[in-house]
This record gives sequence, C-alpha cells and structure tokens, in this order.
Amino acid sequence: MNVYDTARMADVLAPLGYSAADGPEDADMVILNTCHIREKAAEKVYSELGRLRQMKEQRMADEPDRAPPVLAVAGCVAQAEGAEMLARAPFLDIVFGPQTYHRLPEMIARVERAAGNNKGKSGRGAGILDTEFPAEAKFDHLPKVSPGARDGKGTMAGCTAFLTIQEGCDKFCTFCVVPYTRGVEFSRPGQAVLEECRQLVSSGVREVTLLGQNVNAYHGTGPDGDNWDLAELIARLAGIDGLARIRYTTSHPRDINDRLFDIHGHCEKLMPYLHLPAQSGSDRILAAMNRGYTAADYQAAVARLRRIRPDIALSGDFIVGFPGESEADFEATMELVRAVKYAQAYSFKYSPRPGTPAALLEDQVPDEMRSERLQRLQALLDDQQQAFNRQMVGKRLPLLLDRGGRRPGQLVGRSPYMQAVHLDASVELLGRMVEVEITAAHANSLAGQLVEPALHRNPRQLERVR
Ligand code: SAH
Ligand code: SF4
Repeated sequence: MNVYDTARMADVLAPLGYSAADGPEDADMVILNTCHIREKAAEKVYSELGRLRQMKEQRMADEPDRAPPVLAVAGCVAQAEGAEMLARAPFLDIVFGPQTYHRLPEMIARVERAAGNNKGKSGRGAGILDTEFPAEAKFDHLPKVSPGARDGKGTMAGCTAFLTIQEGCDKFCTFCVVPYTRGVEFSRPGQAVLEECRQLVSSGVREVTLLGQNVNAYHGTGPDGDNWDLAELIARLAGIDGLARIRYTTSHPRDINDRLFDIHGHCEKLMPYLHLPAQSGSDRILAAMNRGYTAADYQAAVARLRRIRPDIALSGDFIVGFPGESEADFEATMELVRAVKYAQAYSFKYSPRPGTPAALLEDQVPDEMRSERLQRLQALLDDQQQAFNRQMVGKRLPLLLDRGGRRPGQLVGRSPYMQAVHLDASVELLGRMVEVEITAAHANSLAGQLVEPALHRNPRQLERVR
C-alpha cells in the first residue's frame, strides 16, 4: 500500500513541477514513506534520517545558493510518532500520515514560507506536522492517476499497478498497529475504483492488484446507492476491455463471502492465487490474537477454494512467538502449514508494538526462541515453495512480461501464480502476454522459453488462445 501511496503522492506533486529523481542526492525533496508494522521497519527510518541529515548539510555547504532539500517523512511511523519524530529530528521539514498526503501542496507552500523567513539556511527544518484523520476522504481530493511505473518494481513496463480500494481496519488483532495508524475501515465507492482502473488501463496497465488491509471486507457504494462487495467489484472490473488480470490482497480468512468464493471459479481474469494470512495454527493463540477463526475454519476455507478453483496457489502470513506461544502451539502452526502446502508465504517474529494489547502481555517469548521457531517455519515454507515451483517444470503458462531481466535480451514475467519467470525475449514484448514453457525451477523463480513466437506478434491472438 505504501507503493501505491507513493505513486499517488507523485501524482499530487506533478502539477507543482516535481518528478521522480533517481536518488536522494540530487533531489529537491526527499519523502521517506514509512511502515510501522514491525519494529525493524520502524527502526530503519531513523538510520535513514541520519544519512539524509548529512546529505542536507553537505548540500548546504557545497551549494550555498541553492535551496536546501525539503526533507519529509510520510506513512505510519510518521502517523504514530509525529511530534516525537520532529523533536528527535528537528532538521525535518514535514511529517505527515497516510491519510493527509492530498494536502502536500499546502504543506510545501508552508515550508517555502518558513524558508523565506529564515532564509532556509539554519539547517533547522520547517517542522510541519499533519497527522490528522481528516473528515474528508483523501481519495476525493487526489488528482487522476498519471501513467508510468506504479508497482515499485523499478525497470518495468508500467503494465502492472496497485489500486487501493479499501483502507484501515476495525478488527483490532491484539498484535497489530494498523487500526491505530491507518484508521477505521473505509471502502472507496465502486465507480471511483472503476474509473481509476480504466485510467490505468488506458495508460497501458494490463494487471491490477486491488489493495486493502482487509480487502475482502470491501463494501463500496455502487452508483445507485447499492452496496458492492468485492466479488461485485471484481465482476465489474473484469468487464474493462484491455484489463487482462486481476488480483487482490490482503484478505482476512473471516471475510470471504459465498460470492467471493464462487467468483474464483468463473472469472477468468481473476488470477488463481490468494494471499490468505493464517498467523498461527493454534486455536489458543488465534483466540489470543483476536483473529475470529480457528485453524479448522481456515482449512475449511482453503478446501472450499480448492474445490472451486483446483489450481489455486495459496500464500499466507505467519507470526511466530506471539506471547504465550508454547512449543505445542508452534507445532500446530507447522501442522497447518504441512496440511495447506503453500506456494509461498511470509513469516515474521512477533514484534511487540507500542499501544497494542499484546505488547502488554507478560509471557513474552524470548527472542532466541522466536528466532529458532522462525527458522524452522521458514525451512518448511521454503521446501514447499520449491516443491510448488518444481511441479511447474514442463508446463505451459501464460505470462505478463513486466520487467527487463538482469542481462540484455532477457525479460521477466509473472505467472498466474505470482512466480517470476525469466526468459530470453526481445524488448518489444515488454508489457505483453505470452505463453512460455517452464524449463527450470529455482528457489524463488522459474526459467522458461517462449512457445510459438509467431503468436506473440499479436497479443490479442494469444489472449484468445489463453
Ligand atoms: N490485514 C492482514 C494483515 C496486515 S499486516 C491480516 O489480517 O491478515 C501484514 C502482516 O504483518 C500480518 O499478516 C502479520 O503477519 C504481520 N504483522 C502484523 N503485526 C505484527 C507484529 N506485531 N509482529 C509481527 N508481525 C506482524
Ligand atoms: Fe491488523 Fe489485519 Fe488484524 Fe486488521 S485484520 S488488525 S490489519 S492483522
């Protein structure tokens, strides 16, 4: 979601004359867009700020006639620590949260005024703080999306994009900061999402990933005041000509309704891949986390999805070492993973977050134990990912070629199951759908070769084949 927000900040700043710089060294403004979900992510902000401060001072010494770079921190660390951050880093100009970035032009104008007052030479920043949860939705104030790379992958064709449809969360899992930093659950109106998607498609996007902290809790208002759930939204988006693929993330196991299960069976554009965080396989821990489902509920959801879409690839998130997690609880997580067989998954050591109920629990698991369990879980997940990748060898898969490869003459595409596939292909195919035969599987990616190259000159023809 931060990648999406960053792209939207660029859209807000474009009319002011800003465009993306290659790096901070020569930039007129640097915005760190931050994540507060785990301590490690939050810590990085301060070390990065130290570097930026040096850069600012150096620039002021080297180029005394040039305005010093504007330094800003955005995102959830800014939201959670705003005033404290300004006290700790007085050289900052702007600190703003995830719900106020539509006001960036105003904040920049204030920085300029402050710079005029102190001639911008003191090294002290303007210190502007905007971490409100404004009554107006930022989406109503954002400009249209502009073309260009929107999924943060760097050298890509601009053919894949993120699109936030839902934000915030009211579930209050006891370990999680999201409800405090992103605010209450909010769904964008259906028409606004359709319109943004049409704009993306007209700028060359072929694959869209719908985003939300609880994306499957989506309940947007339709044009007639009716209520659209995620399945309805997907069905409408699938009607957009030129859009080839739809994905959505992150889902909560409790929020998959019947229509959402079913659409996986009949919407061709909806990719057979689902990120469905379990967090734990122990019912005791799931209850302590306030997740609202049991391991059996989770497995039942997976079984139902697989009945509807047998080739669906599963991904997930796991937290190990939640307070009070015993060896038996951890073993229940391993058991769940063995039963589900993931195509890939993310796993984290529990990280106590300030202000969350779990951080106050007494029976915190020692760090060495958390690390040791994480290693065991990751070894199992790695094995499963490799097994999943190996079974692709010899198969033909449709790919969307979305990036250049490491060497010239090589491109990288995404399989329907989210795997990166490397192949030799000419650069004109960037942004196109092609069919490949998988020739080898590696730990994190696949290798393939183009099938029937003649077809690829006409991508529409290929889509009919698909
Ligand atoms: N809404 C999603 C998750 C969003 S947060 C859901 O409910 O599943 C993304 C992931 O970060 C979570 O799935 C969780 O695995 C991890 N996470 C969140 N808070 C954490 C914490 N305090 N310690 C470790 N991992 C955490
Ligand atoms: Fe955090 Fe997800 Fe729980 Fe919401 S549902 S509180 S985002 S982990």
